[in-house]
Amino acid sequence: MAAVRDVLAETRRVVLAHPDPGECVRGFLADGFAILLDRIEAYLQREDAPRLQRVINATGIVLHTNLGRAPLAAGALEALSRTAGGYCNLEYHTPSGRRGDRSAALEERLCRLTNAEGALVVNNNAAAVLLALATLAGGREVIVSRGEMVEIGGSFRIPDVMALSGARLREVGTTNKTRISDYEAAIGDTTALLLKVHTSNYRIVGFTASVPIEEIVELGARHGIPVMEDLGSGAFFDLSPFGLPGEPQVAQRIARGVDIVTMSGDKLLGGPQAGILLGRRRFIAAMRKNPLYRALRVGKLTIAALEATLRDLSSTERAWTRIPVLRMLTLPKETLRARAEALRAELLRRIPQGLHVTVIEGDSEAGGGALPTVKLPTYLVALRSERLSPVELERLLRLGDPPIIARISHDRLLLDPRTLFEDDPPIIVDRLSKGMNR
Ligand SMILES: *Cc1c(COP(=O)(O)O)cnc(C)c1O
Repeated sequence: MAAVRDVLAETRRVVLAHPDPGECVRGFLADGFAILLDRIEAYLQREDAPRLQRVINATGIVLHTNLGRAPLAAGALEALSRTAGGYCNLEYHTPSGRRGDRSAALEERLCRLTNAEGALVVNNNAAAVLLALATLAGGREVIVSRGEMVEIGGSFRIPDVMALSGARLREVGTTNKTRISDYEAAIGDTTALLLKVHTSNYRIVGFTASVPIEEIVELGARHGIPVMEDLGSGAFFDLSPFGLPGEPQVAQRIARGVDIVTMSGDKLLGGPQAGILLGRRRFIAAMRKNPLYRALRVGKLTIAALEATLRDLSSTERAWTRIPVLRMLTLPKETLRARAEALRAELLRRIPQGLHVTVIEGDSEAGGGALPTVKLPTYLVALRSERLSPVELERLLRLGDPPIIARISHDRLLLDPRTLFEDDPPIIVDRLSKGMNR
């Protein structure tokens, strides 16, 4: 019914805009309204097509929030199809035949990987921060540096999450400098928590000072006030040998005595969307009891994919061979160059005329609010067409199926092999050759 109405309304607009509407209607009558039926059919097909589509990411941004952040590892996909299509022991303890706990095994795994006393998994990191603040600091004060009033793309803003949780924000220091004495001076009877927020997507540079987490932990211990750190991305491994310095490691934070750590499941961890809370047993237990947890907890799909991801993270070697995000972030420059050259050669073979293809040096980005100032050196395939403008080339790639997302810089279309999967280059070559050899 909706299809018929929308198509008729559109047709009416066309008829009324026609210089001779009567002639236009006679045309429809003459073909027995076949054209309307065709339009309705096309409309219904469009409606039925999935809106969530695979896209090819040629941007080189590894954790692209608009493109779904972390691509899952094969193990996670296998876990999803193994458990999701039928029944599973989500809350069933098979050995005893009794009711079981949906996330105990997952939490155990998280504790083993990070040496945390307890763990809890919720819908995303925003939910993790909200649950922690509401549970540990509702109605009381949370001390945060003015340099850490973070906004993460979309709608995660520290002051807003704080307000929603019922905790009161107590800002200390200035935008560029905060000292431990600022935290100390703000501590009072109603202080519930000292919070450090990782400045995931920006850096304050120049005349700056922030307080290392160790000092905040020491201050908290002296006053009997728990310390929480929102790591945002949070790495499970040291990424600095790969030229990715500065992303805090989760186990290190736990070892240094941070009471609660929060992080995302689909950033550097490389898993499904989830929020992970790690830390002291008593705080985790309090959060688990909060009715809000019931509203924020994850379902079996997330548990299946996250558990598989954590299994892959059990050793460095396994992680690097299996987790796409880690593999992409640490691809050797020579591999990237070889891939760029191969793509260039194939493009020139299939499109012998009208296309200029060069391989140039450039940068990729981690994205997802991780490592904002780090440039990952890469090789880019740069395209220029004699017939199509860079904007037209970009559209040609983006409007096909699957959409190919690329970027334009200095009047060239740039393709970064870092974020391409093995099957992607032939699709790109096909799309361009069909669009340009016409
Ligand atoms: C990304 C990020 C968040 C939000 O995480 P989601 O998983 O997207 O909810 C919160 N805090 C920090 C510091 C972040 O980097």
